Amino acid sequence: MLRSADCGSLRLDNADVEVTLAGWVGRRRDHGGIIFLDLRDRSGVVQVVFNPDPLAGSGLSLESARIAEELRQEWVVQVKGRVRRRPAGSENPAMDTGDIEVMAGSVTVLNRSLTPPFYIADDAGADESLRLRYRYLDLRRPAMQQNLILRHRVVKYIRDFLDDRGFLEIETPILIKSTPEGARDFLVPSRLHPGTFYALPQSPQQLKQLLMVSGVERYFQIARCFRDEDMRADRQPEFTQLDLEMSFVDQEDVLALTEELYTGMIESVAPHKRLRKPFPRLTHAEAMARYASDKPDLRFGLEMTDVTELAAETDFRVFLSTIEAGGRIKGFVAPGLAGYTTAQVRELDSFAREAGAGGLAHIRYRGDGAEILQSAGLRMPPEWHGRLSARMGAGAGDMILLMAGPPARVNVWLNAMRNHVAGLLNLADPDELAFAFVTDFPLFEWNEDANRWDSSHHPFTSPADGEEGLLDGCLSGGDSGGGPGAIRSKAYDLVCNGSELASGSIRIHRRELQEKVFAILGYSREDVGERFRQILEAFEYGAPPHGGIAPGIDRLVAILAGTSSIRDVIAFPKTQSGSDLLFNSPAAVAPEQLRELSIRVDS
Ligand code: ASP
Repeated sequence: MLRSADCGSLRLDNADVEVTLAGWVGRRRDHGGIIFLDLRDRSGVVQVVFNPDPLAGSGLSLESARIAEELRQEWVVQVKGRVRRRPAGSENPAMDTGDIEVMAGSVTVLNRSLTPPFYIADDAGADESLRLRYRYLDLRRPAMQQNLILRHRVVKYIRDFLDDRGFLEIETPILIKSTPEGARDFLVPSRLHPGTFYALPQSPQQLKQLLMVSGVERYFQIARCFRDEDMRADRQPEFTQLDLEMSFVDQEDVLALTEELYTGMIESVAPHKRLRKPFPRLTHAEAMARYASDKPDLRFGLEMTDVTELAAETDFRVFLSTIEAGGRIKGFVAPGLAGYTTAQVRELDSFAREAGAGGLAHIRYRGDGAEILQSAGLRMPPEWHGRLSARMGAGAGDMILLMAGPPARVNVWLNAMRNHVAGLLNLADPDELAFAFVTDFPLFEWNEDANRWDSSHHPFTSPADGEEGLLDGCLSGGDSGGGPGAIRSKAYDLVCNGSELASGSIRIHRRELQEKVFAILGYSREDVGERFRQILEAFEYGAPPHGGIAPGIDRLVAILAGTSSIRDVIAFPKTQSGSDLLFNSPAAVAPEQLRELSIRVDS
């Protein structure tokens, strides 16, 4: 070993011990011939002192004193020296090693470094594209090292936890065939079979189900998933899920295991986070009604009220035309915001418009509530306001925010507004993790653009107990009302602080039922045969009842690390436009490679 101790582990107990350290040079200060430098390795930073004065007694050779003067940022050095208590008054409580320093006896340069394009420190504020271009330098920053360590701990906890409970970790192929999770596939051309393609898995969904048919009973994998989606903020084209599947279970078993895994893991790897146990459960319908979102942030209330009936009594044009078009008027109470000025309200209105809404109606109840400031055009008498505020739970000093629009859209806008107002009111405690399970998702949702039904979760999700008959009704045309949109499913999500952290479901395990779902989704017989032959056949050979869940690892670690970007917890992430700035990919390939693959590129 080139070293006998780690920089960050030295403490007062180590005083007078001779150590050999190896690491990177950080800050270096020259105080009239005495050189102080911060030496950094993965464990942390320690101060090293080079004092050439023979009276200092460090035994520093002239040669080493000369080298110390040459040292620059990010050079790699080996230092031999003695740990000592820092002179009184020079301790640094901000450093874990701040009570001691190392008096260098000698230094050897192991490697030099160019001047890095940004200073390697947590508060350096370097531009992100520069950080990604020089990721190996960015990852040297202590905060990024902590993120990598945290991620390792999370994954290690998961592996140990599931191993203890009889799960087997099984790898599944990356070169596979299209697996519908609702996104576009990444394709890989086959050289040996010209004109044909593998698809990278959007998730190992069918494979884990096939493993259940194989008798594995309890499977998991830290699985890489690939989805060629238009990049939204904080999405990556490849991401990591804990993929798991269990046989002979119902929904409650999967949720209980998931809750136990998350609570144990967080108590172990991020004990400073506050958890509410047990995790609350909300049905999808309840989540939408109360929070206008299927992934509500439950660290705060700001619950929604549908006031369409009261709105219908007004002569406010926006409300009336919305109601006529089948839309809803909903909103929530912003406690204590009655004092907002016109300019502040205008800012809220701009936020609503940016979120896509036509605007925002507001009412401020000032003074003892009798002074009512309402949106231009509302002009309602105090009696109406009395009923509105009673219905919404608003009091003196509060502001009511209302939005009008088609049911699904108004929820999207309101959810954005709810989170925005929570931010203004500082209601979301970053150290709290408000988990909840959202259950009873609809089985299908209408895709307006494509004019068809899509699976809300994925096509392998089982309908809720007793709802198979509704599928028959839809297929035979004898639908008793509601159509496919009214069928509930056994799909569930785990949400936390406004993010979806996991989704899963109890699956279909009978061919006949699976075929009905494919039929509602509009797959032709040939399509089904071509894409799903393997799973339909497998279901005919004694497929056990099964279900599972797939928690995302990237977002979870980001939340635990207290960073808003998942790129901070992925060693080598892509940019928001899917580029890898380090390797400079995607990139053109040599014409011979394309020829071998029988591919011609139109450009
Ligand atoms: N495969 C699903 C997904 O990736 C999760 C699951 O149903 O287990 O979202």
